[in-house]
Amino acid sequence: MSTITNHMPTAELQALDAAHHMHPFSANGELGRKGARVITRAKGVYLTDSEGEEILDGMAGLWCVNVGYGRDELADVAARQMRELPYYNTFFQTTHVPAIALADKIANLAPGDLNHVFFAAGGSEANDTNIRLVRTYWATKGKPEKSIIISRKNAYHGSSIGSASLGGMAAMHAQGGIPIPDIHHINQPNWWAEGGDTTPEEFGLARARELEEAIEELGEDRVAAFIAEPVQGAGGVIVAPDTYWPEIQRICDKYDILLIADEVICGFGRTGNWFGSQTVGIKPHIMTIAKGLSSGYAPIGGSIVCDEVAEVIGSGDFNHGYTYSGHPVAAAVALENLRILEEEDIIGHVQNVAAPYLKEKWEELVDHPLVGEARIVGMMASIALTPNKATRAKFASEPGTIGNICRDRCFANNLIMRHVGDRLIISPPLILTPADIDEMFVRIRRSLDEAHTEILEKGLMREAS
Ligand SMILES: *Cc1c(COP(=O)(O)O)cnc(C)c1O
Repeated sequence: MSTITNHMPTAELQALDAAHHMHPFSANGELGRKGARVITRAKGVYLTDSEGEEILDGMAGLWCVNVGYGRDELADVAARQMRELPYYNTFFQTTHVPAIALADKIANLAPGDLNHVFFAAGGSEANDTNIRLVRTYWATKGKPEKSIIISRKNAYHGSSIGSASLGGMAAMHAQGGIPIPDIHHINQPNWWAEGGDTTPEEFGLARARELEEAIEELGEDRVAAFIAEPVQGAGGVIVAPDTYWPEIQRICDKYDILLIADEVICGFGRTGNWFGSQTVGIKPHIMTIAKGLSSGYAPIGGSIVCDEVAEVIGSGDFNHGYTYSGHPVAAAVALENLRILEEEDIIGHVQNVAAPYLKEKWEELVDHPLVGEARIVGMMASIALTPNKATRAKFASEPGTIGNICRDRCFANNLIMRHVGDRLIISPPLILTPADIDEMFVRIRRSLDEAHTEILEKGLMREAS
């Protein structure tokens, strides 16, 4: 057997990691000097590191381990599928049972006439597929000039060239020559940071109407689609005001453009329904899926496509696909994961047990001196940190400084909670119990208190002018 070197001392593992492993979304020089934490095992909602520390995973990996760690059924299914048929493609007039069964299952779970699945190995690839799908759809209908996709600033749709172009992350667009042509970004519905003197309701409407203004300005005959996450995840768990989504749906109905819901985080129970689109009340033509589809146990994603789009695409050749589209092992694992979600009624657990209790505790965080707002939908939540709650002021320090101090305190207290700028976010496994939630809040409160002391001592509790 090949050697998995987790028997080595932590410092040696960290040195090898620094020497040879380039981490995603990291300053690798600095990380290498500091040393990355080595995660060796996981069970339920807890990770174990190479020093034996038990860490409560408030992020479910990267928003993906919905059923929690250590599910033997998923390992067994993977091993069985590897023995039976480890790989075969579906390019050239062949198919296989895992891809058939998974596509059928997803079509049954998805609302409306979202009945067709194009598989990818993750969310970025699936969103690249979506760019090609919607442009090919309109070209096939004799409207090749309908190629612009409207997206939102601070959206996250992946990290390939296409999906990062759809995304609206300024730091990503600053590197590597993106966005690609014909992607247009409107503003996000982030009332806390950008709402000024308007009410959340007014602001939600105004931000939704930017879609209509963009369509009018660019021309309906030029716009192919609008893409959005039902709840922005990596952008900081931004929950739109209640007025936003109905207005977006009205605009999408009025104009002849396709609506793509990026459900990579929101899908498979995260918001308390199978899909985030159901939670916010929209009817997309295409959904992007990944992450919770397999609870992260195998890399798989895809696009769920409505009848009309699938029919038009199917009328000719679609010159697109990935070696690992519908990979049999990943598909078998995803299918078993969906069985677990369904048979154990994990979404019922979210709706009736975990999310209501988490919401109660989460919203109490606004009593903390650092916390301005607390937002939560199902099992994804955020708090905004501020030096002045009344005015929703930003900190005078470089954005992210305060968030990073808080995050480091959480990490030291064995809690994974991420920061996005000066917001803190969680997205825990859906199987979280009330006892897990109590333990999580002991660690959150301790971390926030320590961070507050540190921020005061360093003179950082100051407002930007
Ligand atoms: C993570 C994510 C993606 C990208 O998925 P990968 O599997 O990392 O390629 C796309 N969209 C959203 C909303 C995501 O959160």
